[in-house]
Amino acid sequence: MIYNFSAGPAVLPKEVLQQAAAEMLDWHGSGMSVMEMSHRGTEFMSILANAQQDLRELLAVPSNYKILFMQGGAIAENAIVPLNLAGLGNRAQPATLDYICTGSWSVKSIKEAAKYGTVNVAADARTFSPDGKFSSIPAPSNWQLSSDAAYLHICTNETIDGVEYGFTPNVSMPIVADMSSHILSRVISVSDYGVIYGGAQKNIGPAGLTIVIVREDLLGYALPACPSAFNWKTVADNDSMFNTPPTYAIYIAGLVFQWIKRQGGVAALEKINVAKAALLYDYLDNSRLYENRIVKDCRSRMNVPFFLRDESLNAIFLSEAKARGLLQLKGHSSVGGMRASIYNAMPIEGVQALVAFMDEFERQYFK
Ligand SMILES: *Cc1c(COP(=O)(O)O)cnc(C)c1O
Repeated sequence: MIYNFSAGPAVLPKEVLQQAAAEMLDWHGSGMSVMEMSHRGTEFMSILANAQQDLRELLAVPSNYKILFMQGGAIAENAIVPLNLAGLGNRAQPATLDYICTGSWSVKSIKEAAKYGTVNVAADARTFSPDGKFSSIPAPSNWQLSSDAAYLHICTNETIDGVEYGFTPNVSMPIVADMSSHILSRVISVSDYGVIYGGAQKNIGPAGLTIVIVREDLLGYALPACPSAFNWKTVADNDSMFNTPPTYAIYIAGLVFQWIKRQGGVAALEKINVAKAALLYDYLDNSRLYENRIVKDCRSRMNVPFFLRDESLNAIFLSEAKARGLLQLKGHSSVGGMRASIYNAMPIEGVQALVAFMDEFERQYFK
């Protein structure tokens, strides 16, 4: 049995891969692979419409929000967000853009946004965390928000650092949230946000697809320099067909949405995700060899970084894990140590297998 703990591109539900394999050469009697279809043909139009509708159902997206299928990933959205929103309300340029800095992905978002506006870092987690690192989410009472900001940007799950918002901020400006690595893992209220975006390759499907969910009244304010293919209003007006959308990635994402519905929806998956995370964190907290350094109520349910107290064991830990079929556990180079990403498609059996291996490893190597 293989369990893949990659942070992304990441594990997909086996059923989805099997269905894609079965339909690879001939989708529903069309005689074509989905990859070979015109994006404007009736076959693909139905695939796109169903994927959009299923995502709308799964997240209970209100009717005054558009769902866009774009390309470029979350890193491109770091520029696309200010390009679309810095002109909001015809404010003076450069506009003020508020950001909360909670980890590596926030750092990148902030750096990119600074090209398009005056960024105000309303709170940096390193100022408030006990260890001076990205190990907590700063309390909203410590945020220094601007009165005239076009929006507030947050990264609700920091994939590299392993911190996650357990709450939705309550602020006066629209919230823009990078949810790349935990979208569909927990129940959210879309109406709390102005914009939700994320690359698909963590918790949805293959790389190449970017999901954007945007409230309609935020459309139409793009800066003149915004490329047409990145203008949310243009993309929305053309139903994600202004340019050729990433057709195969949308098809796989659609199969994943159907799989989530068969699991009982997001609330059902959230229950399993809570159990998976609790299993791993409880084990880490009670072990002698391993530790997780994130403040407890800020720990990510999706990305669990951990360290071996004896780092000279790192290489053998990884090679023995791999021999047991436990793959891609090496931590991000900027953090070190290990990281287990336990997205929706990771079954609880995978986390049980990981904990069993870690326990055996500790007994054998850590006296
Ligand atoms: C992976 C990730 C990104 C980067 O996504 P790309 O597809 O490489 O652009 C951005 N933000 C978060 C939170 C991520 O997990």
